[in-house]
Amino acid sequence: MKALRRFTVRAHLPDRLTALEPLSVNLRWSWDKPTQDLFEAIDPQVWHQVDGDPVALLGQVAPARLEELAGDESFVERLGMLAEDLDTYLTRPLWYQGLADEQGVEPPKGIAYFSMEFGVAEVLPNYSGGLGILAGDHLKSASDLGLPLIAVGLYYRSGYFRQSLSADGWQHESYPALDPQGLPLRLLTDKAGAPVLIKLALPDDAQLNAQVWVAQVGRIPLLLLDSDIPENEHELRTVTDRLYGGDQEHRIKQEILAGIGGVRAIRAFTEIEGLPAPEVFHMNEGHAGFLGAERIRELIEAGLDFDTALAVVRASTVFTTHTPVAAGIDRFPAEMVERYFGTGSEEASVGGSRLLPGVPLERILAFGAEDDPSKFNMAHMGLRLAQRANGVSLLHGRVSREMFNELWPGFDPAEVPIGSITNGVHAPTWAAPHWIELGRELLGSEDLTQLREMESWSRLQKVDPGHLWWIRNQLRAELIEDVRARLRRSCLQRGASDAELGWIPTAFDPNVLTIGFARRVPTYKRLTLMLRDPERLANLLLDDKRPIQLIVAGKSHPADEGGKALIQQIVRFADREDLRHRIAFLPDYDMSMARKLYYGCDVWLNNPLRPLEACGTSGMKSALNGGLNLSIRDGWWDEWYDGENGWEIPTADGLADENRRDDLEAAALYDLLERAVTPKFYDRDEHGIPTRWVEMVRHTLQSLGPKVLASRMVRDYTQKYYLPAASALRAVIEPGLPDSGEYAMPFGSARELADYRRRAEQAWPRIEIADVDSYGLPDVPLLGSELTLTAQVYLAGLRPDEVVVQAVLGRVDGGDVLVDPATVPMIHTGTADSGNEIFTATTPLPFAGSVGYTVRVLPCHRLLAGPSELGLVTLA
Ligand SMILES: *Cc1c(COP(=O)(O)O)cnc(C)c1O
Repeated sequence: MKALRRFTVRAHLPDRLTALEPLSVNLRWSWDKPTQDLFEAIDPQVWHQVDGDPVALLGQVAPARLEELAGDESFVERLGMLAEDLDTYLTRPLWYQGLADEQGVEPPKGIAYFSMEFGVAEVLPNYSGGLGILAGDHLKSASDLGLPLIAVGLYYRSGYFRQSLSADGWQHESYPALDPQGLPLRLLTDKAGAPVLIKLALPDDAQLNAQVWVAQVGRIPLLLLDSDIPENEHELRTVTDRLYGGDQEHRIKQEILAGIGGVRAIRAFTEIEGLPAPEVFHMNEGHAGFLGAERIRELIEAGLDFDTALAVVRASTVFTTHTPVAAGIDRFPAEMVERYFGTGSEEASVGGSRLLPGVPLERILAFGAEDDPSKFNMAHMGLRLAQRANGVSLLHGRVSREMFNELWPGFDPAEVPIGSITNGVHAPTWAAPHWIELGRELLGSEDLTQLREMESWSRLQKVDPGHLWWIRNQLRAELIEDVRARLRRSCLQRGASDAELGWIPTAFDPNVLTIGFARRVPTYKRLTLMLRDPERLANLLLDDKRPIQLIVAGKSHPADEGGKALIQQIVRFADREDLRHRIAFLPDYDMSMARKLYYGCDVWLNNPLRPLEACGTSGMKSALNGGLNLSIRDGWWDEWYDGENGWEIPTADGLADENRRDDLEAAALYDLLERAVTPKFYDRDEHGIPTRWVEMVRHTLQSLGPKVLASRMVRDYTQKYYLPAASALRAVIEPGLPDSGEYAMPFGSARELADYRRRAEQAWPRIEIADVDSYGLPDVPLLGSELTLTAQVYLAGLRPDEVVVQAVLGRVDGGDVLVDPATVPMIHTGTADSGNEIFTATTPLPFAGSVGYTVRVLPCHRLLAGPSELGLVTLA
């Protein structure tokens, strides 16, 4: 008989061991080896059975064992020390607490961070891939740095899915339900102890309710909304069933819950905990974009008009875009958005909906507008609701500026206000204990915060090559053990009998060059590029003197049959009897498998279609373990490959013929493996050490170590986005000058900005640059000759100080397009008889050769983040 439901009963802890409870539920244990070791010591066998899950361990360990430990002085002492260490970690001042003095501005009192997925630890499988892992690493580093961040997402009853393989290599999905009581979660309750319920009005008088689980990630609370409660009618209980499952109707409910419900959950949480309201709202991808609409509703309810509310929300919102793949952008039928945000009657546009009273439907629709009027684009909404936006690597920033250029018509891509912060990874989570230990030895300190400094990494210089090589060998050997165990489980699961698996104990070799390829399986990542020429790959695997072995893993989205076919191709190849000891596809890629792969692989392979990999982080995790990247120059690798920290696979990204492109890039990959990678690995000195390889390992750690850290990323976000956003928010909340009429009250500055924006948008189509004249150039202009430009501009009602007029100068190409132009501000010098305003600038000619200029008018207001922000420009 199968149980209908399952739940976990936690053991009663003896008095002297009660400190195990907080250590088990704060997920900080997941990146603190001493705490993991403590739990393991309770019962190594059970620890192994429960895959290193402290809550599960405490549920299963025999009470007698706990009693025994309660009498074990050394254990109790160790527990006491670790409990104290956690306490110190949670309370002591960290980097963020020192920021105020250093910067002279007060950093935000709170930051709300929204994401559809969070990969914090394998015990909380709330992620599908890189986006979620990144969010998890963001929280952990925010915790390590002391940021007052609150994270919000959804609690998926079945996470993403578990992957297994059929006998013929086809992906099967299963959706085992998680049991929240068995997870490190607590239910958010109000002061009277009743569960907090978040309520959202849906069409047809339905109401969606959600309870809120709180996971504690070090110092950071992670709120997860859960709709599977009796208060919901049957169908709505499944809203949070799985991550990225279901149809668009399902998705929009999830995103409404994450965005709007997320803000409501934060309000409840901060009130109950007595915390300040967040000043900055960060959307990790556009899924939770409706949060901006909810905040507008709150401000309208507080008495602001829509435009003023929007100005406040924009000032304090940061949007991070993660995909350069147009198909990867979340879009809904506009009709669907109308249904959820309209009243269902004609006055929809006036009164707002039951879901967001007071927020006009047409304004919401305008946030997501794009080329196709039948679509609502979540990325466009993110960009329209956030004054600050970024991509996740230098290259991705550039690609995003082009991709979203349409929202800033009239501007060159370079001026589109989307910056970039390159992703990072959380070292204590992803670096093998061997490296962490070496780091502590070299730094002479338990405290690893010095890893932020380049200088700390230079100390690796004095480590003996033999020792570095020893660590790499250890890690590879541990990986091979893990691979064999997983391979056995997978073969049994696919229907093989034990008797047929005699080959597994000798499959894979701890001394053979080991290459890893593991990630989600969307087409652009090209899982099967390595199979382009199967015999050439087979020869590499089976080479007598210099063989390679390959470990492949990854999940395909359940609806992506194409992705599943790619997996099947790899599985079938790896099933070949002559090859199966050198290549394997391991099912059910997750954080625990990933960690072993990053630790143990010598080479990390990545061959996306450039530039579709926004950043990629798996290669960073490999690099932190001395793995060498072999990658197309895409994402982060485009930025930080330096010729000696790995290899670049030359890209043929200009080619239109995709087949030919795959051929060329695959051939380049094989060539590199044959000519560069394997010779270096197998070229040994008299002690058996591949000295040139080890120097590359050392150089990889030194050059990439300090850069790939999530602590670097979170500090960048803080300095470049969170601090300016908090300042912008405080500026718009300010009243205007005492004699400024309606602006002379709270939010006066936001009113002023909204009013300016309205007037600018009205004036702009009528602004005209009437005449541009140049003076002063000699007959034969020389580099440095002075040029004076004068422009007469009709400002359509705006004052001269409400615009900037710029001379734009640069080289021109054949089509008279200005290339990388420089801008020179023009000064207002008077008013012409016609009423037009006169602007002038004098500038030396900056370039020799074919030079051109033009003049343009842009908005100017002290509360704008930059002149391109509003997407308004008039060119001469
Ligand atoms: C890091 C990581 C990813 C991201 O991999 P990319 O190659 O950057 O796409 C995906 N899944 C898991 C489990 C990871 O740890």
